[in-house]
Amino acid sequence: MKIIIRAIVGISAVSVFLYFGLTSAQQRATFTPEQLEMLRIRQIPGKEGLYLMPGFDGSMSGGNIAILVTEDGVLIVDNKYSYSYDDITRQISTVTSQPIRYVLNTHHHFDHAGSNASFMPNAQVIGHENVRVNMLRNFGPSASPEGAPKITYSDQTSVHLGGVEVQAHHLGCGHTNGDSVILFPSQRTVHTGDLFIWGDRMDGSTMAPFIDYYNGGCASDWVTTLDRLLELDFDTVIPGHGPLLRKAEVRIFRDKFEQLVSRVGGLIADGVDRDEIAAQLDISDLNWPLAPDRVQAIYDEFSRN
Ligand SMILES: [Zn+2]
Repeated sequence: MKIIIRAIVGISAVSVFLYFGLTSAQQRATFTPEQLEMLRIRQIPGKEGLYLMPGFDGSMSGGNIAILVTEDGVLIVDNKYSYSYDDITRQISTVTSQPIRYVLNTHHHFDHAGSNASFMPNAQVIGHENVRVNMLRNFGPSASPEGAPKITYSDQTSVHLGGVEVQAHHLGCGHTNGDSVILFPSQRTVHTGDLFIWGDRMDGSTMAPFIDYYNGGCASDWVTTLDRLLELDFDTVIPGHGPLLRKAEVRIFRDKFEQLVSRVGGLIADGVDRDEIAAQLDISDLNWPLAPDRVQAIYDEFSRN
């Protein structure tokens, strides 16, 4: 049992590092040739004009980037770390000579919106209003204030570029209070940001949903937010982190999340207290390693409601 607890605490430390470890995370990672190949831009099969610049896990490779290439310029969704600008622009230049004109953010975290500021001289950076709020409010690791989007929206907005519409939808609370999913209706493809992540990290640990309470995230509404996502018309999904997937995997993730919140809620209803909640919660079948403090954070959220 001690070994298991140590493993969970270890994963917790990794999670904290991933979201709040400025110094290490802002250093450039060194990748093997095989990893560099995995990170290379590629066209999404059957999706005209749409490319993926992958981040293969939740760690040093940053989040996934979607790239729409049109005759009137390029739109990208997310932009990895503060040091990723050169790599992103170089890779995009291998598939088009069109300029990058729009940068959309799925949320404010530094592994998704870290190089906003570098794009600003030449592109419009657009995000949910709470992306701007969170970036300006946070000092240091989890956001860079100078990269706060200058164009914001509350519920939904669209960019029309080269005859193609791109929609940004804020569907409710989840990973943060400023999450957007970016829908490419013509390509029936959506970039979900970290509302939906999938797969394993390079160290073998599984990526579990992270509720960023400091930036308005919530477990209570996350399933409802995913239900709204599932109402959109798409067949292909770019998760915040992980491989290109289908709508079916979003449904699986949604059902697992429903199990998580219903089991925590059930234990609270049974009178299990805060100190015991992590030990009492059995979610081994979900394969989402959640550190005790993260289970307690959900407990705290539900106890406030
Ligand atoms: Zn995130």
